[in-house]
Amino acid sequence: MTATLPMTATLIDGKAFAAGLRAQIATQVQAMKAHRITPGLAVVLVGEDPASQVYVRSKGRMTREVGMNSYEHRLPPETSQQDLLALIDRLNADPAVNGILVQLPLPAHMDEAAVINSIDPAKDVDGFHILNAGRLATGQKAMVPCTPLGCLMLLRDHLGSLSGKNALVIGRSNIVGKPMAQLLLRDSATVTIAHSRTANLPDLCRQADILIAAVGRALFVKGDWIKPGATVIDVGINRTDDGLVGDVDFDAAKQVAGAITPVPGGVGPMTIACLLANTLTATARANGLPDPEGLTP
Ligand code: NAD
Repeated sequence: MTATLPMTATLIDGKAFAAGLRAQIATQVQAMKAHRITPGLAVVLVGEDPASQVYVRSKGRMTREVGMNSYEHRLPPETSQQDLLALIDRLNADPAVNGILVQLPLPAHMDEAAVINSIDPAKDVDGFHILNAGRLATGQKAMVPCTPLGCLMLLRDHLGSLSGKNALVIGRSNIVGKPMAQLLLRDSATVTIAHSRTANLPDLCRQADILIAAVGRALFVKGDWIKPGATVIDVGINRTDDGLVGDVDFDAAKQVAGAITPVPGGVGPMTIACLLANTLTATARANGLPDPEGLTP
């Protein structure tokens, strides 16, 4: 009697890839410093959201670790939008600041789009400014949102060419889903975007050679939705009683997929590494240098 052994997917180690990327960035920062250029990243946090505080702290630490200057601006929750815009104006004008990141979400009394669009697009290292979104959508040189950029790097590293592959992105946010779809399209994948009103999601998933889950619901994507051999990128970060889990039922999916990112240790570390990559790119462009090798799409 022969038993069918379950297949086990290759683990896409985002943590290790991100560490390599940060090392590469650190080397390039040293080379810039030899020309008296030190990249600087300003991070603005309004309010006391605990998750945001953790993100801002680790962004600051990793910025310094690669040799860049980190400028942290913590503002009280009751800060007026006018005062925030005045700070952004000062950072826009400051030549020591190459990248500006306003940590989201902002307090409810602020107009998020107005704040993001007040950042100089050349310093918009999150890639959320409307000009950068438009440039990405029209195939022009842009600052690209960090999480989708990190996913793209992992996909290219694992698959090589994405050309002609069926890619399904679950989620249509401006931060992850939409820019992810744009990047996949740019690499000539055939792209479908699914969202909360999509019909027959399991069937769509079963056709996807590349599956990107950016939903924000724990273990939402089931193992039997996955096409055998597919590459699965799990963007979700969900806090549960069992700790952090992704949007994909990892234990079931790894029996079917060809490759999969874990949560934690997959996309998460790539996001911060790509923020540093974008800061380096912004610094190079501000100084009339060519884009750093391998850090842009
Ligand atoms: P969001 O809430 O803005 O978007 C979620 C998307 O999921 C929406 O477009 C919605 O249409 C879709 N959706 C909701 N229910 C659905 C359903 N039943 N079927 C199909 N689609 C459905 O979230 P976001 O900002 O795009 O983030 C998504 C997830 O990624 C979250 O868990 C977030 O924490 C995580 N995230 C991780 C990183 C990282 O660095 N790893 C970065 C950003 C976001």
